[in-house]
Amino acid sequence: MSQFDGATKVDGGIKFKGMTLKPIVEQCEGCAKAAEFEGDKYCTLYPVPEKKWANGKCNSATHVKIAVEEQAKVNPLKASKRAARGR
Ligand code: SF4
Repeated sequence: MSQFDGATKVDGGIKFKGMTLKPIVEQCEGCAKAAEFEGDKYCTLYPVPEKKWANGKCNSATHVKIAVEEQAKVNPLKASKRAARGR
């Protein structure tokens, strides 16, 4: 079963629950909130994914949060190096 069951294809996207959804953008690739409908992927949270990336990162992107966590793992190391230098 698709997340977008009952959706219909329209020009440039799909119509779902009264809203027109635009396909996800390149930055959305890998996000768990994206779901497929008839060969294209759409965001299950936002009708226009492009807008979520217009001013930086999408705040709901699951794949971007993972990258942030990886960064956080690196930081304690930097902190301990600083401590070792006596700062
Ligand atoms: S939640 Fe954000 S990153 Fe994920 S598919 Fe939707 S718009 Fe794209």
